[in-house]
Amino acid sequence: MVLGDHALVLTRDRWTCKLTGLRTAYKCRTYPDSEQAAQLGRTFGCVRLVWNKTLDARHRRYHTEGRSTSYTETDAALSQWKRTEDLGFLSEVSSVPLQQTLRHQHTAFSNFFAGRAKYPRFKSRTGKQSAHYTRSAFRIRDAQLFLAKQTTPLRFVWSWPEVDPTTINPTMVVVSREPDGRWYVTFAVDTDEPEPQPPTGEAIGVDLGVKDFAVLSTGETIANPKHLDRKARNLARYQRRMARKQRGSNNRRKAKRKVARAHRKVRHARQDFLHRTTTNLVRRADTIAIEDLHVDGMTSSARGTTEQPGRNVKQKAGLNRRILDAALGEFRRQLEYKTTRVGTTLVVVDRWYPSSKTCSACGHLLSNLKLSVRHWTCPDCRTRHDRDHNAAKNILAAGQAVAGQHPGQACGADVSRAGSSRTQSAMKQELSGASPTGIPALQDGE
Ligand SMILES: [Zn+2]
Repeated sequence: MVLGDHALVLTRDRWTCKLTGLRTAYKCRTYPDSEQAAQLGRTFGCVRLVWNKTLDARHRRYHTEGRSTSYTETDAALSQWKRTEDLGFLSEVSSVPLQQTLRHQHTAFSNFFAGRAKYPRFKSRTGKQSAHYTRSAFRIRDAQLFLAKQTTPLRFVWSWPEVDPTTINPTMVVVSREPDGRWYVTFAVDTDEPEPQPPTGEAIGVDLGVKDFAVLSTGETIANPKHLDRKARNLARYQRRMARKQRGSNNRRKAKRKVARAHRKVRHARQDFLHRTTTNLVRRADTIAIEDLHVDGMTSSARGTTEQPGRNVKQKAGLNRRILDAALGEFRRQLEYKTTRVGTTLVVVDRWYPSSKTCSACGHLLSNLKLSVRHWTCPDCRTRHDRDHNAAKNILAAGQAVAGQHPGQACGADVSRAGSSRTQSAMKQELSGASPTGIPALQDGE
């Protein structure tokens, strides 16, 4: 094992796991030998086949019989397939990644039905490939990784000098291959208790801006990252070039690699920007309030009726903006797990709350505010507002109301409290409203 100069392309990520608390993931480059690569390739193929075949069966059953499919049923079908002559080869790879892909699909459908995600898609041979190994399917000895069905250790490059790889005890190992041909292995490790952060006494409202990435209730702006813009333009150029090449040609394959590389650079730049932004926010404030960020691709009618018919118009602001919009879910996810980790509060304000057209000084509500209007004066109290700064202040006020600091002003918001990764839907609680303390009760099952 070497401590390589690959550190720049590596990410260390953490996420919250609903069942086991917090997780840390170490993602490393890995270099399988040809035999291992072939074996992993077969595993990816089987994972993809199981995913696609299951998705297809689900889809068809829903349309012919009008009913959904449970995880148990998909699992039973998998066992069935393994016994057939045509699909007997499924038994030749580790059964764990196949089982895991069924679980992922089950979760993907739960998210879809809850409105948190798009309809699950078929996996393509040319996309990113991955296989998830749980504890029974891998073994780590002296920092050597052995996967099920493999006899030799998988070589990987460890890039965290402060962490001794012989001491980590992963609950899951994910092997993946990017479309550009790079291989990665991710070690997911459950970590202990959150590390509480001393109170700072500050609360911040965040309005995701049009011109800037975000405007804070303090009046500060977080600019869109410039380097991302350049990388996004590169990506677009490579995509145009690829589109001009003939399908199936060698040149097209080469162009495709370039697209994949440019894609990876955009992804890393975006991820890096989001991590720096969210870490900075979480360090500064005891309470952070953000708007609810809906998943792109939800019904356009829902969009049309929001106060900010917004996103559509915002998207026109450029490629950069589109890429960041696609990352807004990730922005929220990072804030959720980072606030959970240090024991601070994240409040998610209902997207129907008219944060832009309410006067943050007197509460006057405008009947209409065009997106092009950047500044306005309240007809009631004559306060002059910067549109986004005013919105951020309102988001903060709504957030604080729900967080219990100013009971009685709740405007419909979700609250995610320290030690809990659960957030409650504001729409669902509309009837019950806020509880007497102004803090909506947290519910299980979210
Ligand atoms: Zn006013």
